[in-house]
Amino acid sequence: MKQIYLDHAATTPVDKEVFMAMRPYFDQDYGNPSEPHWWGQEARKAIDEAREKVANFLGAKTQEIIFTSCATESINLAHKGLIEAIRETQDAKRKSSAPHIITSSVEHKAVLETCRHLEKMGMAQVTYLPVDKDGLVKVEDVEKSIKPETVLVSIMYVNNEVGTIEPIREIGETISQINKLRMENGELKIYFHTDATQAIQYLDCQVAKLGVDLLSLSGHKFYAPKGVGALYFKKGTPMVRQQDGGGQEYRLRAGTENVPYIVGLGKAIEGVRSQGSGVRGQVEKLKDKLIKGILKIPKVKLVGDSKKNAPHIATFLVDGVEGEAMLLLLSEKGIAASSGSACTSGLLEPSHVLTAMGYRPEQAHGSLRFSLGQGTNDEEIDCVIKVLPEIIQRLRKMAPKL
Ligand code: PLP
Repeated sequence: MKQIYLDHAATTPVDKEVFMAMRPYFDQDYGNPSEPHWWGQEARKAIDEAREKVANFLGAKTQEIIFTSCATESINLAHKGLIEAIRETQDAKRKSSAPHIITSSVEHKAVLETCRHLEKMGMAQVTYLPVDKDGLVKVEDVEKSIKPETVLVSIMYVNNEVGTIEPIREIGETISQINKLRMENGELKIYFHTDATQAIQYLDCQVAKLGVDLLSLSGHKFYAPKGVGALYFKKGTPMVRQQDGGGQEYRLRAGTENVPYIVGLGKAIEGVRSQGSGVRGQVEKLKDKLIKGILKIPKVKLVGDSKKNAPHIATFLVDGVEGEAMLLLLSEKGIAASSGSACTSGLLEPSHVLTAMGYRPEQAHGSLRFSLGQGTNDEEIDCVIKVLPEIIQRLRKMAPKL
């Protein structure tokens, strides 16, 4: 049976060249980068080179990149590290009202749970912005929610469940205007974080263009291995480390560096940079074909605005069928897809993203996400278009009639 992997938003395979670049750092150049001997310095050089590649990709300085274990860790460090640092410097008068964070109701759980934790600990107050039917945050809503205590705005670049591209540049521009006034009045700056985990492969992530102070990413979404990520933090952004120990990563993330994985992340991000827009165009064309084919099935709806969304994600709502059931039957045919996000499947509650977009829980339960990758081809899309109607028909026949 042919295997068709259409779950690239959950994770991607490690690219062969990435794997080859990593290999020597397991058993040849295996030194600890903190050691002054030859082995250590070879490892240090490899980390420095990877950091330069990430910095070049983001248009940042090397001193502004910290390697972590994943996007979740980067996000935790960005939010908790910033809030803790701000609270440390707040004067006694201000300490009475907690710093304010603005985020959206469709963020990944890594952001939502981090914000909830900060709220629970009394460290921050949080506003969760609504979205429209396409999953978009309104720039005016961000602006209207800003209050004197606001110190952080955190909005994702691309939504992992439905592919919505959020207006990051516009939000960045708005925050920058407000910060100009704040600076004149000697007030605290508002920092801007974006979770760019789903954006790295296909969108422009130059931090200056986006106007962000903090950006999180994860290697395994763009053909590096699982277990390595990075945080961009703009020079001057206050930050308290969340993992104590040695002085690694500019004293912001203690622990011996994962050299082979960091090398892999560097190689993969360099690959994204050199691939240009060709892969994006190809993925977008295949996604359009998939959408056209699937929308021929009765009572199936596409979520969001496919022309404005990220090129690799297409999410559908299938009436009268459970997403999990479709996944199992697709899997029997060798096809991997997802229902909601991989991080929420297994839980019975409907996707928080789809409910925030205004869908009823029973509609959200019938969600099916296909996410394409750089290796996806026409034949695979044809196969899905052929197999899916049969699966849906079979499940609808089995469903109890109300
Ligand atoms: N943010 C987004 C948008 C994601 O899609 C994911 C993973 O699916 C994460 C954060 C968390 O990434 P990781 O599991 O690598 O920490």
